[in-house]
Amino acid sequence: MREGIHPNYNQIKVVCNCGNEFMTGSTKKEIHVEVCSKCHPFYTGQQKATAARGRIDKFNRKYGIKAE
Ligand SMILES: [Zn+2]
Repeated sequence: MREGIHPNYNQIKVVCNCGNEFMTGSTKKEIHVEVCSKCHPFYTGQQKATAARGRIDKFNRKYGIKAE
């Protein structure tokens, strides 16, 4: 195997907007993410999904579409 043709693959720290930090493998030094498994709506009671549904209702009313 030749030297110098492979990027350095390290264990790096991923920092989320919610403050959670976890380790992963990457060629980057550090990663910042907006959502992680701790604060993603799927894991936190889907609060954001409910908000999205509200926007869809608004859209339907605006264009006269009856929501089932
Ligand atoms: Zn998070």
